[in-house]
Amino acid sequence: MTRDELKNRAIDYLAGKVTCKEFTEAATDYLEGSQTWLGWVRFQMHLGLCPGCRAYLRQMKKTIHTLGRLPEEPIPPAVRDELLQRFRTGKSR
Ligand SMILES: [Zn+2]
Repeated sequence: MTRDELKNRAIDYLAGKVTCKEFTEAATDYLEGSQTWLGWVRFQMHLGLCPGCRAYLRQMKKTIHTLGRLPEEPIPPAVRDELLQRFRTGKSR
């Protein structure tokens, strides 16, 4: 990570800004109940603002319900990237 990236990350963090990528990474912790309270707050904030991630979380919960447990690899990276791509272009369905 470069110095600028680090700085931007710190600013984002302090501003409570969570990217969709961070959200999906935090989703596993959330579902396992292993989040810190700050992580939880930021997670909830993003959830409230982002319909795409609400859909993502719903899908995760459905998967867990179907499997009866948290999958090893919740969503394959390729599928996740495609989902995130769809959120960005606003074509999520
Ligand atoms: Zn999002």
